[in-house]
Amino acid sequence: MPAVTADTLTLPRIAPPAPAAQQRPVRSVTTAPSGYEGEGFPVRRAFAGVSTADLDPFIHMDQMGEVEYAPGEPKGTPWHPHRGFETVTYIIDGIFEHQDSHGGGGEITDGDTQWMTAGSGILHIEKPPEHLVVSGGLFHGIQLWVNLPSANKFNPPRYQDIRGRQASLLSSDDGGALLRVIAGEVGEHKGPGSTFTPITLVHATISPGAQLRVPWRPDFNALAYVLAGNATVGTEARPVRKGQLALFGPGDALTLAAGTSQPAAEPNLEVLLLGGRPIREPVVQYGPFVMNTREEIMQALKDFQSGSFGVIPGERIPHT
Ligand code: MN
Repeated sequence: MPAVTADTLTLPRIAPPAPAAQQRPVRSVTTAPSGYEGEGFPVRRAFAGVSTADLDPFIHMDQMGEVEYAPGEPKGTPWHPHRGFETVTYIIDGIFEHQDSHGGGGEITDGDTQWMTAGSGILHIEKPPEHLVVSGGLFHGIQLWVNLPSANKFNPPRYQDIRGRQASLLSSDDGGALLRVIAGEVGEHKGPGSTFTPITLVHATISPGAQLRVPWRPDFNALAYVLAGNATVGTEARPVRKGQLALFGPGDALTLAAGTSQPAAEPNLEVLLLGGRPIREPVVQYGPFVMNTREEIMQALKDFQSGSFGVIPGERIPHT
């Protein structure tokens, strides 16, 4: 369950979209396949089956967990490089420790978000802290990759830390939904995160049977990913459930509704709403690098191998 909650009656309310607003139709519903990341933590590949053009400016998203680890079991990633985009890591339950070759880092837990602009190149590691490895426990979060325009792909790396309580908390017009605006805006209400390419990232918790209607920028794409529960999306009420992604067509408003009956263990619909302004440039991705051309990918591999992404802190002496 999300750590950041609030009584929606005390929160600012989102004005419902104007009656003349054009509701976005649902273009597709896809199911995220399960896989493993890093040293073997379970993920769902949220964007699988959706074209690069429809995802633009997003590249990739993993739902990490939800998993209940036994003692000794929690896993992270080894040190690895990135270039050409930004990673956004949002932890719903549990703790992730992050460290990078530019001195960025820290612990993110229970509703915190960490924004890493890889830019020209960075090395980082993401892992559970030692005490969590010992104790085991619940782990659940997402990692979203946001592309950088070609003009910003070689920007210096940057790190933003957003505590869970900094997210803007809003209520739907009837109090049935709690929205955490992590980045961008919903109507007049702004969230704290900032990316080079403007995006909106919202985690909404919707009570069984409640409907959420939100204005959505017409120049942004629109995606809804179900973290828990079941719902219908669009005014056509297309069914979606946990682990599924809805892609919306053009328009300036989104409608979602939580099913009246939800699983006992997950009593509310938990959904991520995502949108951004498409960059509309060629995307060539090779593993941890996202560039515009094959040549730039070859250059990234060369630069990484020659050590120009920096050094692993505290590991300047090679292992023997
Ligand atoms: Mn990474």
